[in-house]
Amino acid sequence: MLSYRHGFHAGNYADVLKHAILLQTIELMQKKDKPFVYIDTHAGAGGYCLDDEFAQKTAEFKDGIGRLWGRQDLPASLVHYLECVAHFNEGNGGAAEALVWYPGSPALVDMQLRDKDRMVLHELHGTDHQLLAEYFDADRQTKVVRGDGLKGLLAAVPPLERRGLVLIDPSYEIKSDYRDVAEAIIKAQRKFATGVYLLWYPVVNRAQTESMLSLLKESGIRRQLRIEQAIKPDSDEFGMTAAGLWVINPPWQLDEIATEMLQSLSALLGQPGGQVTVKWEVGE
Ligand code: SAM
Repeated sequence: MLSYRHGFHAGNYADVLKHAILLQTIELMQKKDKPFVYIDTHAGAGGYCLDDEFAQKTAEFKDGIGRLWGRQDLPASLVHYLECVAHFNEGNGGAAEALVWYPGSPALVDMQLRDKDRMVLHELHGTDHQLLAEYFDADRQTKVVRGDGLKGLLAAVPPLERRGLVLIDPSYEIKSDYRDVAEAIIKAQRKFATGVYLLWYPVVNRAQTESMLSLLKESGIRRQLRIEQAIKPDSDEFGMTAAGLWVINPPWQLDEIATEMLQSLSALLGQPGGQVTVKWEVGE
């Protein structure tokens, strides 16, 4: 049974990095005119209300998007992210300057799609799948699938367009998720080697996370970039201390943009002992 609901975590510090990097990746990919497909293996509900019982219970967004909201001193990559969140608030009938709604990855990508691009979204949880399906009802560019996103990924590649961005953003509820995710990405990459893969990962137990990342690092796949923010040092205590994106085949200049972005995020979201990393783990 799935118990994870992203509504508890929407807009937290991990979402800020994930969503800002996702938007930058799309912007860089759209510098080429050719169409692409966006595949989201774990899509969630699409968007979230920060006033509801889920978000209010944990209030995680206050130490994430809440710390960036209204700031005028951010790099262009974070300004673009904030503009998209403001646009989502307006789209839901609120004022652009009020932070009441938070877009999930499907809503953020939806704002960037050109007429020639398309999306395939997977969600397993019944309630979140229903919300997602309602959000994209009658949207001809978007296919919403209820099912396992890792199986869905293998069925969706290689795409007809031969260009694609895959976001793999699991809830890591089951220990075996870590291995399953790495194995699925390796299989997908064999079928679709030119795809861009963005894997989100948490650090709750450093050894567990690194064993998943090592499978990717040692797979023979070239061009693997780590983008990570540790808001505090690794710890044996319960809770997430860091989160990152493991990017296979990042578009040109994503590493530079991430470095600048993380300098800002480090000052705004980090705690004592925190650190940020942008590192090519496997080169060309
Ligand atoms: N990508 C979303 C975003 O950025 O807004 C958040 C996704 S959340 C971290 C993970 C989601 O994966 C949850 O909604 C959960 O129900 C769903 N999920 C868990 N196992 C899944 C699976 N095997 N296939 C597809 N979705 C799954």
